[in-house]
Amino acid sequence: MKKSNSLYVSSPVNALVKGILREDKTLKEVLKHGDFGLGTFNDLDGEMVLLEGVFYDLHSDGKTNIADINLETPYACVTHFKPETSLVINEELTFDRLKKKIDSLFLSKNLIYAIQVTGKFKSIKARSVPKQDAYRPLVDVAGDQKEFFFEEEEGTLVGFWTPDFMHSVTVPDYHLHFISDDKQRGGHLLEFLSKNVEIKIQPIEQLTLDLPHSIDYLTASLDDDISDDLDKAEH
Ligand SMILES: [Zn+2]
Repeated sequence: MKKSNSLYVSSPVNALVKGILREDKTLKEVLKHGDFGLGTFNDLDGEMVLLEGVFYDLHSDGKTNIADINLETPYACVTHFKPETSLVINEELTFDRLKKKIDSLFLSKNLIYAIQVTGKFKSIKARSVPKQDAYRPLVDVAGDQKEFFFEEEEGTLVGFWTPDFMHSVTVPDYHLHFISDDKQRGGHLLEFLSKNVEIKIQPIEQLTLDLPHSIDYLTASLDDDISDDLDKAEH
């Protein structure tokens, strides 16, 4: 198995959507599977970015810090990032228009892609959710989200595109988190207007899915179609 070209998912996203917000998977364990990715922390205590092997925790109060690798995550997607295609864009683009540019680099919409977009942004809208005290379905938690609006920002978007048929396992379509170059601001990406950016993508042909062993996970009912709730919570 080519480990270098696999997307590692620490737990299927449908468990998170159902409100299983804690697992015993540490960042240290996740780091064995990649140096690039995103996710969240136990109790949804911030949005996660993994960039060049360092985990950042982007809190809902706007504070950002390097995360302790002994912290645990209920959902993380990572890979060893080795981009194969890049494209420089020197025009103002919305997220929707940039998606079309990235789409044009895809070999097929039946693969997974790791995506990094680095450069200058005229504006960025991102969000993070506050730490949760108890079990709550993700679609309810999303109502508490704190939105941030950054202007004239330099930074990096980190994330993945995955096919819709994988929607029980990963957040389908584009899922990107933003972190500023000074590592002070960021969140789950909602909208932006980009200026000068470089897109780098890596096609991924393998999926490594960990299945948790927590009591909550083992006893959960995960057969419902969660795609509507996931769409509301994540896009
Ligand atoms: Zn996210």
